[in-house]
Amino acid sequence: MRERLEELRRHGLAAVEGASDEDALRAQEIQLLGRNGALTVLLRELGSVPAEQRPQLGAAANQIKDALAAAIGARREALRQASLQRELSGAGFDASLPGPPLPSGGLHPLTRVSRELEDLFTSMGYRVLDGPEVETEEHNFDALNIPQDHPARDAFDTIWVTPPGSGAARGGAVCLRTHTSPVQVRALRRFGAPLRAIAPGRVFRQETQDASHDHTFHQMEGLVVDRGVGVAHMLHAMHALLEGLFGRQLETRLRPGYFPFVEPGFELDARCPFCSGGCRVCKQSTWVELMPGGLVHPNVLRACNVDPEVYSGFAFGLGLSRIAMLRYGIDDIRWMLSGDLRFLSQFPA
Ligand SMILES: [Zn+2]
Repeated sequence: MRERLEELRRHGLAAVEGASDEDALRAQEIQLLGRNGALTVLLRELGSVPAEQRPQLGAAANQIKDALAAAIGARREALRQASLQRELSGAGFDASLPGPPLPSGGLHPLTRVSRELEDLFTSMGYRVLDGPEVETEEHNFDALNIPQDHPARDAFDTIWVTPPGSGAARGGAVCLRTHTSPVQVRALRRFGAPLRAIAPGRVFRQETQDASHDHTFHQMEGLVVDRGVGVAHMLHAMHALLEGLFGRQLETRLRPGYFPFVEPGFELDARCPFCSGGCRVCKQSTWVELMPGGLVHPNVLRACNVDPEVYSGFAFGLGLSRIAMLRYGIDDIRWMLSGDLRFLSQFPA
């Protein structure tokens, strides 16, 4: 019995040392120490040796078991190291290659354009303001020189809402804001003049949806009120905005435009940034309408507790959705809020 144990130890250690890879080593491990392995078989026979020899033989068997297990562990580690070294030094391994690509998100085109413009205007000393999307009739219309019976109200396809528990007791009607201009009113009343601010955000109209109309879209309001502000200041701000958006100066023109909250009012057009002789975007005219604007109407200043004898200002409204569409060549506004990943994944980070 003792000789057979000794024989198992010698043979076992040699076999472990000779295992050429991890599979061979695993096979040896099962053969030596497994449930039906050589050592287990020997231990079963221990019951048939004289009782006085059993403790000694049992201790010897355990020693051999430990020695074999330790040898197997050491050999396994050595084989792993060797295999790692082979991979690292092999011709197929290049530590400078990039890893497999990880899927990553991106920013919505509206978010990108909005953030770029926020950075630009912040650098020129403007505040970035936010305002409520559910707005009172007073902020959305009255204070902006659009009284109830004014025909200009018809141009806004307003979505009126009835807030729960409000009713007539609260006074005044409530709507989803039809433009970002009510933020002008809130800002002037809160901060007073002088003031420079932009207000990007969502606006809502009861529109029939098509490729260029949606019930929800994005605008950015710009407002500057100070002493002696005139049309030249407005043009400067608009040009800075265009250069920031398109990376170069575009030729512009002002056309008269009527908006109740400005006097005089203008429409700013820019030379189409995408062509020189007419294209689909500019409908072959080489001009694109970019933003309405003008000098803040004295009635609006008065409604905001700013003295029009002392202060003047300009305001413009930029269609953020439209700008993002121009910038990225998006041909249908309904994509913007579709939440469709096939659309969004075209704007990776
Ligand atoms: Zn064009």
